[in-house]
Amino acid sequence: MKTLQELTRPNIWALKPYSCARDEFKGMRADAFLDANENPYPNGVNRYPDPLQEELKQHISVFKGVPAANIFLGNGSDEAIDLQFRIFCRPGVDNVVAIAPTYGMYEVCADINDVEYRKVLLDENYDFSPEALLKACDENTKIIFICSPNNPTGNAFRREKIEKVLREFEGIVVVDEAYSDFCPQRPFRLDLQHYPNLIVLNTFSKAMGCAGIRLGMAFASTDIIALMNKVKYPYNVNTLTQQRAMEALKEATVFRRNLSLIIEERVSLMRAFAQLPICKKVYPTDANFFLAKMTDADRIYRYLVEHRIIVRNRSRVDLCGGCLRITVGTKEENTALLSSLRKYV
Ligand code: PMP
Repeated sequence: MKTLQELTRPNIWALKPYSCARDEFKGMRADAFLDANENPYPNGVNRYPDPLQEELKQHISVFKGVPAANIFLGNGSDEAIDLQFRIFCRPGVDNVVAIAPTYGMYEVCADINDVEYRKVLLDENYDFSPEALLKACDENTKIIFICSPNNPTGNAFRREKIEKVLREFEGIVVVDEAYSDFCPQRPFRLDLQHYPNLIVLNTFSKAMGCAGIRLGMAFASTDIIALMNKVKYPYNVNTLTQQRAMEALKEATVFRRNLSLIIEERVSLMRAFAQLPICKKVYPTDANFFLAKMTDADRIYRYLVEHRIIVRNRSRVDLCGGCLRITVGTKEENTALLSSLRKYV
């Protein structure tokens, strides 16, 4: 790996971060907070939140098996994705490499930050070649993005392939494990100590069942986490989100029950799809969704909308011609989907 200083934009390396009121007093006891121009009358949210979310990180650390010092929290994983561009990529100069098709926000963030986005197409089994990814890189490639399990294809990649990229690429490797709870493989967040160039993304939006609170996580070396904290907005995770996330972490039994329900439903829904005459292929998945190649994806999509059932039409995405992406719902939702599809003519 290049040094972190070599990989970081010089202006970011030199940046003197904004120091907010709550950073400065930290660690001391106080009876009156007259430092942050807040309204003093209590209503539950009259005080600024903890800028570094220390208490929440302690709880996440236990749940995820990652030391609190290696955790960054943001407004959805999308904040963490955007920060990687702002920290490492010089606009108009640097580039990033990613598998394709994959989660669309990497490319959108690249475009917003004026960073070249290099796509390396998966093969017909939706698998990637580490050699092809590495070959697409040059001296200005700062980040490689690998989403596993991948969106929209659903499959997780073999760990050895990702490990090869981590070992051989000199820059940052972002492994987006938004869907890893649905997948039996060992997650990369548990191997941070072996890879100083690894950033793993997780989110409260999927298996944790909290898409509405907008809480994303990044796990990385303490040096990378320090850079992310330096660049983020001072109070990027609001009080209500921090509180609700701690409640969700206390409901581990609900989490596990819902996770196994989703996985059970996934098996029966995919089996039922495979039997539909209008379904040509169901792709294997390690996530809470799957791709299904249909006889006429556009028309079936519109038909489902008329029946007030919304799936994702991915038929215009690279390598996904004819495909709908189906999120596994509750038993009732899945039954309604199947019964509509069985009536399709
Ligand atoms: N990563 C992947 C692979 C995703 O599919 C999504 C959401 N669809 C996200 C990240 C975004 O997650 P968040 O809600 O935490 O911004």
